[in-house]
Amino acid sequence: MARFIVLSVFFLLCFGIARGGIWLWGHITGEKESVFHGARTVEPAERKPGSRLIVLDAGHGGRDQGTSAGEALEKDINLAMVKRLAEILEEAGETVIFTREDDIKVGLEERAAFANQNEADLFVSLHCNYCEDNAEVQGLECYYREDSEEGEALANQIVQAVQEEERIENRGTRTAGFRVLKKTEMPAVLVEMGYLSNSSECDKMTEDAYQELLAKKIAEGILALRPSEEEQEPE
Ligand code: ZN
Repeated sequence: MARFIVLSVFFLLCFGIARGGIWLWGHITGEKESVFHGARTVEPAERKPGSRLIVLDAGHGGRDQGTSAGEALEKDINLAMVKRLAEILEEAGETVIFTREDDIKVGLEERAAFANQNEADLFVSLHCNYCEDNAEVQGLECYYREDSEEGEALANQIVQAVQEEERIENRGTRTAGFRVLKKTEMPAVLVEMGYLSNSSECDKMTEDAYQELLAKKIAEGILALRPSEEEQEPE
């Protein structure tokens, strides 16, 4: 019995030292773990009655900066944009959760799993584009997974809303096999909001007024498909 206790204590100590070492190593290298800890989740009680649960996914983060042009980093623009978008959607009565709210790295599978676990109604991922060979290319593109009618409808609504706005260049909807689109179990879109490789679009993307306009238009597209009150299930 005494031997068992001594052994147990020994193993616990080893485990503790190992964990401490991992923590210390992470601290020294400054590496942010890709463990999921940054996002706000919503308790069922916090759900606004009749609202849809929308996951907003800011692409990249942490060491993964995404694309960039000069000072403009995709990861920062994506994060600023999900926050603007969230504000508008929440104002309109939707419930919003984020795959990341800070500058941290989150895996692609984790982003999709987060949306699936929370049984979200919609998944909207925001990114910035870059074209190596042609700096002239500019405009927003909205992607959905092939064979998803609801994803296609959502993408169409977003593009339609954006089209009404002269300042925003628009390149239409497309299908793609992006991991976050393939792994999510709800209607999902990935919006490539603009090209950082195009200097005028890049300037716009970092401008407050343009970000606000873009968020407003993307929100309009998302809200266009909100089920009307008669269609909602009675409580
Ligand atoms: Zn991206």
